[in-house]
Amino acid sequence: MALYVQKFGGTSVGSVERIGLVADKIKSFRDQGHDVVVVVSAMSGETNRLLSLAADITKTPSPRELDVLVSTGEQVTIALLAMALHERGCEAKSFTGDQIRILTDSAHTKARIKEIDVDAVQQELKAGRVVVVAGFQGVDEKGNTTTLGRGGSDTSAVAMAAALSADECQIYTDVDGVYTTDPRVVEKARRLERITFEEMLEMASLGSKVLQIRSVEFAGKYKVPLRVLSSFVEGDGTLITFEGDSKMEQPIISGIAFNRDEAKLTLVGVPDIPGAASRILGPVSAANIEVDMIVQNVAEDNTTDFTFTVHRNDYHRVMQVLQSVAEDLGAEAVRGDNAIAKVSIVGVGMRSHAGVASKMFDALAAENINILMISTSEIKVSVVIEEKYLELAVRALHTAFELDV
Ligand code: ASP
Ligand code: MG
Repeated sequence: MALYVQKFGGTSVGSVERIGLVADKIKSFRDQGHDVVVVVSAMSGETNRLLSLAADITKTPSPRELDVLVSTGEQVTIALLAMALHERGCEAKSFTGDQIRILTDSAHTKARIKEIDVDAVQQELKAGRVVVVAGFQGVDEKGNTTTLGRGGSDTSAVAMAAALSADECQIYTDVDGVYTTDPRVVEKARRLERITFEEMLEMASLGSKVLQIRSVEFAGKYKVPLRVLSSFVEGDGTLITFEGDSKMEQPIISGIAFNRDEAKLTLVGVPDIPGAASRILGPVSAANIEVDMIVQNVAEDNTTDFTFTVHRNDYHRVMQVLQSVAEDLGAEAVRGDNAIAKVSIVGVGMRSHAGVASKMFDALAAENINILMISTSEIKVSVVIEEKYLELAVRALHTAFELDV
């Protein structure tokens, strides 16, 4: 007999029929004798609908009231799911974040969980009930309703699992696991049986949006075994686990992540003086713009070129910032390109293997794809290329690293 925390996302509870299917699934776990705590999202589209109501009233809604508003979405689902369980003869009770006391800080719309009181939950489980918890929401010290940021129910589920020392936190969603890459781009993409937390974090931060990144960090930190699986089709999904947990040898590359939302900017002919990089990026970060890759050339004739990438949405703003930086520094010119994309190979196996990067460059060269920038970390090699070659690059790498089914 195990204790499972099961999270069902917005699409999985998107209609009363689907809520019924979720209830069937939960009941089958109960029938096998397992204890189940369920965390649910709002019905799909509901959080957006609530946010747009607020937007129709004001451009600057109070964050506190926004939280009061959007947290209602999850409150609807917990009650409906509890009723659906009752209909199936399965004892169940719903709880809001406040009722459980999922204690958070007071950072409305992006609160962080500090502590969860599990006594009441444990008593309910002991009494043979399924506990249905509203995801995404909590309460601060003063009793204000808070929410955890978009996609926050994943984090609620992981936090519940950590607090309860659950055997597994299962995230049910509309995909049946984590894939080697996006199956919409590569037909031969394959579901991974397992992936390490580190790899998952890289994949997630690079745009494979299966799980909210924060929930993966949380699970890694508190050693919560996490599984991603489909609400609609039977299967084992993907287990997110620790390096070395598996007896099998790690593949060198576990997956290929990519991100289209990138733009790159270059300051040409920057004087090669101490403080230049700080004078370039200082104003960029002051404008609250996140910088991703940074490359500075070897200085020639006492000048250097300084290139970095940002989110494509920030491209025009950064351009403006850089125009004045260029004047200030006496740089020659500002150049930019917002039709680029980033492709990365990710795998803990590359720590113990040489030649991974050159194999990647060979595969791209064979397709005549020009590499514009390169960056590496211990378990990742990323390149920036022209966006029009993105699909071709991902497919070529998928084949080169023997990930095809
Ligand atoms: N309902 C919230 C959202 O749409 C939280 C979640 O679904 O995880 O962002
Ligand atoms: Mg969601």
